[in-house]
Amino acid sequence: MALSPLIERYDQLILDLDGCVWIGPEPIPGSIEAIAALRAAGKRIVFATNDPRHSAEDFVRKLWSLGAQASPADVVTVGGAVQHLLATTRPNRTAFVIGTEVMVEHVRSAGLRVLNGTDLASRAEVVIVAGTDRVTYDDLRNAALSVRRGADLIGTSRDPTYPMPDGPWPGTGALLAAVETAAERRGVTVGKPEPQLFATALDRLGDGRTLVVGDRLDTDIAAAAAARLDSALVLTGGTSAEQAAQAGERPEGEPRPSIVAASLGELVNGSP
Ligand SMILES: [Mg+2]
Repeated sequence: MALSPLIERYDQLILDLDGCVWIGPEPIPGSIEAIAALRAAGKRIVFATNDPRHSAEDFVRKLWSLGAQASPADVVTVGGAVQHLLATTRPNRTAFVIGTEVMVEHVRSAGLRVLNGTDLASRAEVVIVAGTDRVTYDDLRNAALSVRRGADLIGTSRDPTYPMPDGPWPGTGALLAAVETAAERRGVTVGKPEPQLFATALDRLGDGRTLVVGDRLDTDIAAAAAARLDSALVLTGGTSAEQAAQAGERPEGEPRPSIVAASLGELVNGSP
């Protein structure tokens, strides 16, 4: 497969996963072939995801199962970024975690004591909110009470949703908003559009002309703009063609994609 002249200009790419490479369990048509074509052409690739539910190793397994080559060093997750932040700024603190077991493990590995399931769960020093399909009213209460008592509130991102085959499902941003509303305090976030994931990705990629590819204006494209990287918006996930057209007319200074393509496959091929 020949690469489009547009893609030939770049040495390396930072690819989003949800809504760019796959939707839930299904690969987006053409995405796996596009990754193979990029690798065959010698382009370096790092995957950078705001999905906090799985580990880098989980994503590598999923990529391989769909037919795309990857190693753990190729995957930058927001869970890993939160672990790095906590390990460098808040080791030995106590934590309450809304998130999957993978997220809890990241927090433990950073050196914090996780209070979930103990009598002290509403008195944690740090509250971490990450997307999960296992969340209860008790979780929201313990998180909100801890924050009201002075805990730092850290979310993995503000993604309101993530794409699934039957429509967008509530994402980390929806859970974070619930805690913020109940605690009457705004937290900080680590994932895109904050620059950390792309800084880690660039560390791994090294120097070169870099293109970011993602499906969301408010995360992928905004983070690329903040990192002064070119970006391509694909319309297979969280952004409609109509929203993309409006983004093209945004004033100078607002995050705008350098390229809009129907899909990763079309971006890499240059044709639908
Ligand atoms: Mg995405």
